[in-house]
Amino acid sequence: MIKFCTRCVISSMRPRIAFDADGVCSACRFAEAKAATDWTAREAELKRLCDWHRSNNGSFDVVVPVSGGKDGGFVAHQLRTVYGMTPLCVTWAPLLPTDIGRQNLDAFVAHGFDVIQGRPNGETTRALTKLAFEHMGDPFLPFIYGQTNFPLQMAVRYQIPLIMYGEDGEAEYGGAVKEPRAQRKIEDHDEQYFSGKPPSFWTEHGLDLRQLKPFQAPPYREIKANGTQIHFFGYYKPWDPQENFYHCAEHTGFSPNPERTEGTYSKYASLDDRLDGLHYYLAYIKFGIGRCTSDSAHEIRDGKITREEGVALVHKFDGEFPVKHYQDALDYMGLSHTEAARIIDSWRSPEVWDGFRLRARVE
Ligand SMILES: [Zn+2]
Repeated sequence: MIKFCTRCVISSMRPRIAFDADGVCSACRFAEAKAATDWTAREAELKRLCDWHRSNNGSFDVVVPVSGGKDGGFVAHQLRTVYGMTPLCVTWAPLLPTDIGRQNLDAFVAHGFDVIQGRPNGETTRALTKLAFEHMGDPFLPFIYGQTNFPLQMAVRYQIPLIMYGEDGEAEYGGAVKEPRAQRKIEDHDEQYFSGKPPSFWTEHGLDLRQLKPFQAPPYREIKANGTQIHFFGYYKPWDPQENFYHCAEHTGFSPNPERTEGTYSKYASLDDRLDGLHYYLAYIKFGIGRCTSDSAHEIRDGKITREEGVALVHKFDGEFPVKHYQDALDYMGLSHTEAARIIDSWRSPEVWDGFRLRARVE
């Protein structure tokens, strides 16, 4: 039986989420705890952390994973201007970059940031994208590998122990983490980020370990020897994606999309990859949770819209098929529409779908 949160619009189909006796989801409870946090004390912790790591001689002292979007841009800009750090920003190339994504990354560099971009072998990436689409129902997995493991590779290579991410997605959006945490454990990556399938899994499907190396984390002993720590900026400072957007529009040259993103109502989140739409659409197929459900749930928790507005938006946009870049995605993976449709339909979960009809929708 699918349950919907009584405060936001998320459902019990979201992996690892929990609901309490009042029917409130763990992400809404987390938002409540956030509002009651002593942020002055948290910022003092951040200052101590920065004091400990700051280089003072111009060498990089913190790795900040960015995409050119509003969130990484906000973290890097704050660390540099408010906390006197020298960030090395690292980014993993989108599978199929968009013009607006490229433009935003260029603008970010032009605003005074050093960026290293990882661009893995195109043949392997394409093969891995197609395999992940078919066997995991998510063409985006190769990007998630890179986004998670490339910062670790760079931290080890440049001998920078501190990595600073934005928000703790596992806590903010209703995942395995129920309490605020400053750091995440590298040991949790496989489960929380790769759905139990790390890059080495794909050796079972014909890729060899040498091909998969760019997608993998460095050996654990090297991560340890570097003293690597992964922290969340959102633990130390209030995290508000809409505020990040305003901040980056002003300070890092960030531009939103001129048009609404398919499947939702927003214009400023997750704009870099032409495969984004398909990634979110597959979540709609698997869990009945489309891009608009996720966006509205976040904005209800942040107090930007009411639950009623969220419900109306979900009815209007959730599950809208991402036609705009669909052909590009098919060409990239070398699939016909018939093959892709078969794969998409193979991921319809019977809990969510009665044939092609949603079993329950948020009311
Ligand atoms: Zn909720």
